Amino acid sequence: MSKDNKNLHRDVITQIPQYVAGKSMEDVKKEYNLSEVVKLASNENILGPSPKAMKAITDNIGKLNLYPDPEANMLRDKIASFIDVERENIIVGNGSDELISLISMAFLHRNEEIIMPWPSFIRYMHNAIIMEAKTTLVPLGNDFKYDTQAIVDAVNYKTKFIYITNPNNPTGRIMNREQMEYMIEGCPDEIILIIDEAYKEFVEDEDYPETVDLVKKYPNKNVIILRTFSKLYGLAGLRCGYAISRKPLIKLLMRAKAPFNLNFLAQVAACAAIDDKEHFEKSRKLAIDEKIYIYKRLLENNIRFVPSETNFILIDTGIDGEAVFKKMQEKGIIVRDMKMYKLDTYIRITIGLREQNKKMLDELIKLIKKKA
Ligand code: PMP
Repeated sequence: MSKDNKNLHRDVITQIPQYVAGKSMEDVKKEYNLSEVVKLASNENILGPSPKAMKAITDNIGKLNLYPDPEANMLRDKIASFIDVERENIIVGNGSDELISLISMAFLHRNEEIIMPWPSFIRYMHNAIIMEAKTTLVPLGNDFKYDTQAIVDAVNYKTKFIYITNPNNPTGRIMNREQMEYMIEGCPDEIILIIDEAYKEFVEDEDYPETVDLVKKYPNKNVIILRTFSKLYGLAGLRCGYAISRKPLIKLLMRAKAPFNLNFLAQVAACAAIDDKEHFEKSRKLAIDEKIYIYKRLLENNIRFVPSETNFILIDTGIDGEAVFKKMQEKGIIVRDMKMYKLDTYIRITIGLREQNKKMLDELIKLIKKKA
């Protein structure tokens, strides 16, 4: 290595915008001298982890001296029977975050291109940067709806991936079945269509596509579906996600992954979480019921928002979203501003328990009336 460290890092690493994580609840408590803080910022499950998953962890903790199954076959079998595919159609990872990196590493060549909607989940772009690939951002249409025609029109001979986040983060809107079939049919066979369904379990809209059926319906298309245990299942801290696709693609990803990429406790806990129907229904019902309460209060106060199919809502405060975020944090309510997406007047809130939502809304309405 030269003295001036000229070749220490690859140039692309400095092109990745630094990830600015929100402050932790503990930090906010200390900084503002608060006894209680509500975090409605990261779309976590406010009810906590699945109790069955917690029990599986305590039951299995004594086996931590052993390496986990590198193929995670018990979990892959469990997911496979849950969604009616075969084990070989599934790969599991350390959060869907890891799977996005793995897919990029395995398939994306230097100078190829990815297409992603904008605004959407920024990690797709970060991984493209790492692989020295270019990102084309296709803006969402009116009211943040998907513009499928614009996405298909953006395809060129260098395009390798198209990402669709369904429902989308940070908007909460879906791409419907008809649009999705149009995307798959319009997507050249050499392209990989990656459908990120991190918030799928919260969707109510009957036009939401059942993409596992679409993977079966279009066996020659390269579709990869991403799902996670981080959101509705309440296991964000454990890190477990999975991808579903055609067997040849999964086989390639299995070769590229680190041998023990999913830890043992995540494997047993995710298996148990799939069986926890009570926690699933309770979590889903809370998000749906509280969404109605939040909409009502926002409508009564003429505050604009984007109707959501998830456990979060994008709200247009009409004033500086960052100022709103800061003022709310001082009061012990952590939300997300949307500056990163250049949605300067917006904030994104995670749906919480009634008293948390009430506290958040009372403060938000007060700030908007005072114009922050
Ligand atoms: N995709 C989307 C759309 C997300 O919002 C998130 C988490 N914020 C992820 C993927 C990553 O989830 P995981 O915890 O499974 O890595």
